[in-house]
Amino acid sequence: MLPDNIFLKIIDKTIPAKIVYEDDRCLAFHDIGPKAPVHVLIIPKKAIPTLDDVVDEDAPLLGHLQLVAVKLAKQMGLGGGYRLVINCKEAGGQTVPHLHVHLLGGRDFTWPPG
Ligand code: AMP
Repeated sequence: MLPDNIFLKIIDKTIPAKIVYEDDRCLAFHDIGPKAPVHVLIIPKKAIPTLDDVVDEDAPLLGHLQLVAVKLAKQMGLGGGYRLVINCKEAGGQTVPHLHVHLLGGRDFTWPPG
């Protein structure tokens, strides 16, 4: 079982986060346990537990999350490259049950990931 959805509390501002971007559809904030010099999470304000739960009407939202990630990557000086990751469900490494895009940068990454 995945634990409580702490990201809804960040959206509601009932718990703090280092927010770097917000609009009507999404929020972006620094990951509390960064895995790279830059590690930002971009999350939809719509409560979607996992990537497996998206529906056709979410297509514009999914595109928006990626476009926000690209803009943030540019703002954060990641012109040399970066990685976007969406972990899906427990076998995919997801620990928070609210869809999120990891923006990771500031170091080199290996492939395949662990
Ligand atoms: P995932 O394993 O893909 O579900 O990623 C969840 C991420 O959320 C992890 O990288 C955590 O470090 C991060 N995280 C958990 N709680 C918080 C929090 N309160 N503020 C910021 N990041 C968090």
